[in-house]
Amino acid sequence: MKLIFVSGGVISGLGKGITASSIGRLLKARGLSLSAIKIDPYLNIDAGTMNPFEHGEVFVLDDGGEVDLDLGNYERFMDLELTSEHNITTGKIYKTVIENERHGDYLGKTVQIIPHITNEIKRRIMKISRDSGADVVIIELGGTVGDMESMPFLEAARQLSRELGREENVMFIHTTLIPIMGSVGEEKTKPTQHSVKELMSIGIRPDMIVGRCSEPISDAARAKISMFCDVDEKAVVSCPDARSIYEVPLTLEKQGVADYIIDKMKLKPLTTKRNMKDWEKFLSNVLEPKNEIRIALVGKYTTLADSYLSQIEALTHAGAKMSCKVKIKFVDSDDLINQNPDTLLGDVHGILVPGGFGIRGVEGKIIAAQYAREHRLPFLGVCLGFQIATIEITRHVLGLKHANSTEFEPETEDPVIFIMNEQKNVHDMGATMRLGAQAVNIKEGSMSSRLYNSTNISERHRHRYEVNPAYIERLEKAGWEFTGRSDDGMRMEIGELKDHPYFVASQFHPELKSRPEKPSPLHLGLVDASMKYMNNLNKQ
Ligand code: GLN
Repeated sequence: MKLIFVSGGVISGLGKGITASSIGRLLKARGLSLSAIKIDPYLNIDAGTMNPFEHGEVFVLDDGGEVDLDLGNYERFMDLELTSEHNITTGKIYKTVIENERHGDYLGKTVQIIPHITNEIKRRIMKISRDSGADVVIIELGGTVGDMESMPFLEAARQLSRELGREENVMFIHTTLIPIMGSVGEEKTKPTQHSVKELMSIGIRPDMIVGRCSEPISDAARAKISMFCDVDEKAVVSCPDARSIYEVPLTLEKQGVADYIIDKMKLKPLTTKRNMKDWEKFLSNVLEPKNEIRIALVGKYTTLADSYLSQIEALTHAGAKMSCKVKIKFVDSDDLINQNPDTLLGDVHGILVPGGFGIRGVEGKIIAAQYAREHRLPFLGVCLGFQIATIEITRHVLGLKHANSTEFEPETEDPVIFIMNEQKNVHDMGATMRLGAQAVNIKEGSMSSRLYNSTNISERHRHRYEVNPAYIERLEKAGWEFTGRSDDGMRMEIGELKDHPYFVASQFHPELKSRPEKPSPLHLGLVDASMKYMNNLNKQ
């Protein structure tokens, strides 16, 4: 069993997740099998109840796990399908230990952080590693070394390295910040030295240091870090600001990161060739696209781009496939209520209304959907966006002016979006939703069956509300056809508007399974239609 721990020092937000994912990608390209774990030192059991404003989007896995968005990066970079076990939080660890204590498992003993908490951490890491059967498991330690919360995790990592064999079975990679100061532009290595000292005081000596810096690190700084932090010069890696996160694997490859790891851990790759051709092609389409379109993302968390991370990535993947840069214009849905929509949406080639919860911003999103429908502007609605499109059409095409979702107006005259009976009695806010991968049947001959090139798909969900069956017949007659439905036929999954170039929405989240080399079909449909829309404008 081979484990690579990736920690972070100096400041948070250094892109540890991208570093971990990129290393995974490189090892995968050598034919090694990979798995990944994210450790989040917070006390929440999972990310399900966390506010996207504060923490970025909640990512959803096939098994319904609501997890940190870094697991999305792992899946995208390493082309993995993970489960909620792969996100370990302090909350999960303590919950198990306290339950065991109540159960009497430690009878007679004083239950303590060391060894009980650390043992539970080790048990989980070992179990996941064993179950995955992967050659290498990459474990990202969330937080910053020195934080009180991450101490038990670092201690567990140290113990594991002792138990499994420090020489070749466990590797520590530490990511740090190397700031450049003043007009002379000197790189400062002191913060890195301090942070490594902190790590060493816990008994962990890093094997590799990845320095985040605005520029590539100079040889002098590399030598200094090598000397003072006691790592090989070859293992001091420079990770300068990238034009795209997808560039990072190639930046690391050029510095021999994968070869160094393979050597150090005595890994047996299937090939010594770097099979990164598809990735390079994808990246060149991201960095040097032939076309450019603008898509409005109409949401309410528009001040933190991470809130819509998977949507942005799915648009990047779809754009790359078409060699098209997708410029995203973030539109705060509340602004659509006070301003003429033309001033906010008049210059875009497509609109995306993503998922969301709660009433704020809803009316603005309805205006966006109406604008797209009436102006024949390409539109994709996802989850809440699907419900919004349905409400808009019920109000303005069917003429049921007060139609709404019971989420926003419990006593609405026309509850076209409502809660299915079985969900009604649920009171806890955590884990009460329809979550994870569910089968969707697509109508033959429909736009989505063409995009998916299939009539049976599986996509991920995270919602409570549904289309009310009492309105389906009228909506379909009005041109809003439900071309995707759940297995039992009860839940509406995809809507397609007739006589519109591209007005499509899904109850599921296609962005969650989008990959660089395999973009989400519905996002691809949006980009394709938006490019056509732009070309038509240019012709006029
Ligand atoms: N709030 C809606 C629901 O719960 C939509 C959820 C979402 O967009 N993820 O059904």
